[in-house]
Amino acid sequence: MFSGKDVYMYCTGGIRCERGSAYLKQKGICKNIYQLQGGIHRYMEEFPDGLFRGKLFVFDNRYTVKSNDDVIADCTYCGRPWDKYSPCSSIHCHQLVLSCDRCRQEHHLTACCNECQAKGDAGEETEQCSCTRRRTRIPREL
Ligand SMILES: [Zn+2]
Ligand SMILES: [Zn+2]
Ligand SMILES: [Zn+2]
Repeated sequence: MFSGKDVYMYCTGGIRCERGSAYLKQKGICKNIYQLQGGIHRYMEEFPDGLFRGKLFVFDNRYTVKSNDDVIADCTYCGRPWDKYSPCSSIHCHQLVLSCDRCRQEHHLTACCNECQAKGDAGEETEQCSCTRRRTRIPREL
């Protein structure tokens, strides 16, 4: 898939790219490997009016940081534009949910999946929600 190609990598903070490009270099299959130093995070700081659209996911309770107001994600339930994460309402679940105000208020859809929605606060502690396995993996494994 990378054989003989120029590869350009970027990630949130530039750390995973560092590892990823080291791995590809070691394999020696692609022509050139470039990476975005400091990741999208640095890019947004240096180029607030740059090409990055939408919000950047961060691993703390801000969930996202932004340099523009574009909303490029959708509500999981109704598909309307929505990009504010909240924790799944099932008490032991660690998933984040994109569920819009309307779905929350009118349909009480506050969980990551139907299973969690039904469990509410009666859920048991598990490492992963059962819906995690059903999600598409990116990049797709060939
Ligand atoms: Zn919705
Ligand atoms: Zn859940
Ligand atoms: Zn779930």
